[in-house]
Amino acid sequence: MGKSLLLQNSAWTIRRFARCVGKKIKERHTFTIIDTEGKKIHLCCPHCGLIAYSRQVNRWQTLATDFIHGHVMTAAQAHYLIDPELTICCSPSVLAFSSHEEALKFQKGFGGRIVNFHLAIEFLNPKHS
Ligand SMILES: [Zn+2]
Repeated sequence: MGKSLLLQNSAWTIRRFARCVGKKIKERHTFTIIDTEGKKIHLCCPHCGLIAYSRQVNRWQTLATDFIHGHVMTAAQAHYLIDPELTICCSPSVLAFSSHEEALKFQKGFGGRIVNFHLAIEFLNPKHS
């Protein structure tokens, strides 16, 4: 029941995730969705960003932040380390990397699974069918 309610109002959903149980948005985790009207929606981490992405219909650009270097990149081109043994923001943690090699190095230390953009979305939004 809660779920269908969430889907009804995506703007509300995004506001809810952006607040992310009162956690402060840290630059290294920021995930940004720019909608077709140019409005920027900042999410606290890739976890929330990817969930918001799949619910946002009028998205124009989606940007992730490299976890090591802090630079912004196109979310679709990032490598995502999902569920490492490190909690950065929301659980399960999702970290974004621009370099696959650096993601691998990180994985050696903290575990988790490296996936592409689409698989990361699937991981966070399991299909019900
Ligand atoms: Zn978060």
